Amino acid sequence: MSAFNLQTCARSNILALEPYRCARDDYKDDGTNVLLDANENAYGPSLPAAAISAASSSSGPEIDLLGLHRYPDPHQRDLKQLLCNLRNTHHHTNKAITPDNLFVGVGSDEAIDALLRCFCVPGRDRVLVCPPTYGMYSVSAQVNDVGLVKVPLLPAPMFALDTEKVVRTLSSEKNIKMVYLCSPGNPTGSLVAKEDVKKVLEHPTWNGVVVLDEAYIDFAPEGTSLAEWVAEWPNLVVMQTLSKAFGMAGIRLGAAFTSPPIARILNSLKAPYNISSPTSALASYAVSEDGLTVMRANREKIIKQRDRLIEELPKIKGVGRLRGGTTSNFLLYEILNAKGEPDNAIALAAYERLAEVKGVVVRFRGKEHGCLGCLRITVGTEEEGTRFLAALQTTLAEINGGDCRIPPKEEKKEVEANGVVA
Ligand SMILES: *Cc1c(COP(=O)(O)O)cnc(C)c1O
Repeated sequence: MSAFNLQTCARSNILALEPYRCARDDYKDDGTNVLLDANENAYGPSLPAAAISAASSSSGPEIDLLGLHRYPDPHQRDLKQLLCNLRNTHHHTNKAITPDNLFVGVGSDEAIDALLRCFCVPGRDRVLVCPPTYGMYSVSAQVNDVGLVKVPLLPAPMFALDTEKVVRTLSSEKNIKMVYLCSPGNPTGSLVAKEDVKKVLEHPTWNGVVVLDEAYIDFAPEGTSLAEWVAEWPNLVVMQTLSKAFGMAGIRLGAAFTSPPIARILNSLKAPYNISSPTSALASYAVSEDGLTVMRANREKIIKQRDRLIEELPKIKGVGRLRGGTTSNFLLYEILNAKGEPDNAIALAAYERLAEVKGVVVRFRGKEHGCLGCLRITVGTEEEGTRFLAALQTTLAEINGGDCRIPPKEEKKEVEANGVVA
């Protein structure tokens, strides 16, 4: 039994909110009503005829451009049902989740922020994070004036959760309202063991919420997602996104699966029309059977290219060990100095030269906990992989040959300082 109590855990101002209702919740639109309730423009969207005919004659999924003058559905129950169908695998429970278990937002980033606003009193409450991890948890905490307590993951290559320390910290530190866990981790590519999540959920005295970020879960074996497990726990939130395996980062669609009471407060807090109608329509396509077929085919291609990088990278002089796991669409590799040690100066020089001389942009992660000398490389297409491997090989040869110069430019941008987190 967990010590979770929503009434004392969530902020009282948030608990007092009522979910948004519009006139159309009271008077369902059967298509024959005259809708004069929302100050929309009945003459339709200001789109040139050319744009409308181009959209309707294209072979892609049809978006109702002519319906864009109406506000979108604030509840998104149909989309939520499709997401439930996808995650009701019965690997982790016999119970089924329903649209009442869901919040959908503008990417998972909206869910990360909404949870902070639901549970954390600014200037008082804190969240526990496990570095190295996704940067948005701390950015969003800072925006909300919420403090961070850090319990680093155990050392590479496994980057497992230091579960005992997390549990002890939740006992000894005051005002920790949430634990953000990332599984598969970014930048670690490692899954958090279900047993470890369970130990945090079963904490005997801690009154808080476990947030499991499954942004990369579709790169894990079928049935790994713990989304449906929210039917068993009152204080588990599982976040997912269409930005990664589904290849839909541009539509901004994220989901949080949780208990109905937590879903209710998330839905009460959100802006009523956070999901646009084009986003909703495209998301529904992506998680339909046909969309899933495309996702699975693309995933196969990504995994093939990932395996190729794992095979080829160690053959390049100056590339060190793979750190972390491979349950994702990126890889974390050490870059070595002449002595064969992982080295941030060399990794940073390689990162900058790759981008500025070769036009290949990867991510320098050497300053993250336990990631000394590491670059994070997203798995791209076969051609991109070919170009990356050749560029890295010559770049490291040049750097090790003593050539760290970057051709002069007007002004070099401070790339890492700007809170770029993805
Ligand atoms: C990319 C990523 C996300 C996705 O965020 P969206 O806002 O849904 O695009 C969430 N969590 C992690 C760990 C990520 O790497």
